[in-house]
Amino acid sequence: MLKFDDRIAVAVSGGKDSISLLHILSKSEKEYSRTSLVAITVDEGIRGYRDEALEIAAENCKKLGIEHEIITFKELYGYTLDEIMKKRSIKNLNIETPCAYCGVLRRRALNSAARKVKAGKIATAHTLDDETQTILLNIFHGDILRTAREKPITDKTDLKLVQKIKPFCTIPEKETALYAYVKKIKFQATPCPYASSAMRNDVRVILNRLEEKRPGIKFTIYKSIERIRPSLEKTEKKQDMERCCLCGEPSTEEICRVCQLLSQIV
Ligand code: SF4
Repeated sequence: MLKFDDRIAVAVSGGKDSISLLHILSKSEKEYSRTSLVAITVDEGIRGYRDEALEIAAENCKKLGIEHEIITFKELYGYTLDEIMKKRSIKNLNIETPCAYCGVLRRRALNSAARKVKAGKIATAHTLDDETQTILLNIFHGDILRTAREKPITDKTDLKLVQKIKPFCTIPEKETALYAYVKKIKFQATPCPYASSAMRNDVRVILNRLEEKRPGIKFTIYKSIERIRPSLEKTEKKQDMERCCLCGEPSTEEICRVCQLLSQIV
């Protein structure tokens, strides 16, 4: 996933997974003098949640001597996630969950910040648990071909899209938590107030129950998809990246998903 001279942007939310990833990369990259690390935190603007996470992320970066870039929804889109949710309920737009807005807007924010700090790769702390949840969610949403694109190392499809890597994709969440506890690393334990409304939460419960009864099932799901991914990739029609006619960012449609979502609420 990594080369000896990479400039790596680590997506740090302040939770156990991303903070553990930051510590591990900071340790392993010390051996490579031409590598540099920068932490990126996206502040979505979630009252009573993100402030604590920002403090913890900043504290860890300071301790490790890592540059820390913070990007906010407010500066990028003109609204915090809380404001978007208020507007959404006033307009009675209850089709998309808060996480659906947040996920799309956060991906864009992360990419913009990584470009700003001139990173060649974005390392995210998606664990085996996240990966298997996403696989099942894609199936439940009837979008299995999406799995073809969500690889541990994304394809370089556009100059404006920074390549993403997932170093923890085969590591169970319990192990990243264990690492943080053993190393006495400070992380945010409070869950996001919007998390319970997402279908991901239900899938997490199902998978954890299965894993408890049949240890190793998350690995089996992950490995099964790894085996069929090449076939899925062949099936999926490659769409050319164009530029969104409103914001100029890469998009496969005339208007990108970010602009589509924002236009619903203004
Ligand atoms: Fe965003 Fe949902 Fe994650 Fe909260 S749980 S930070 S709303 S994606």
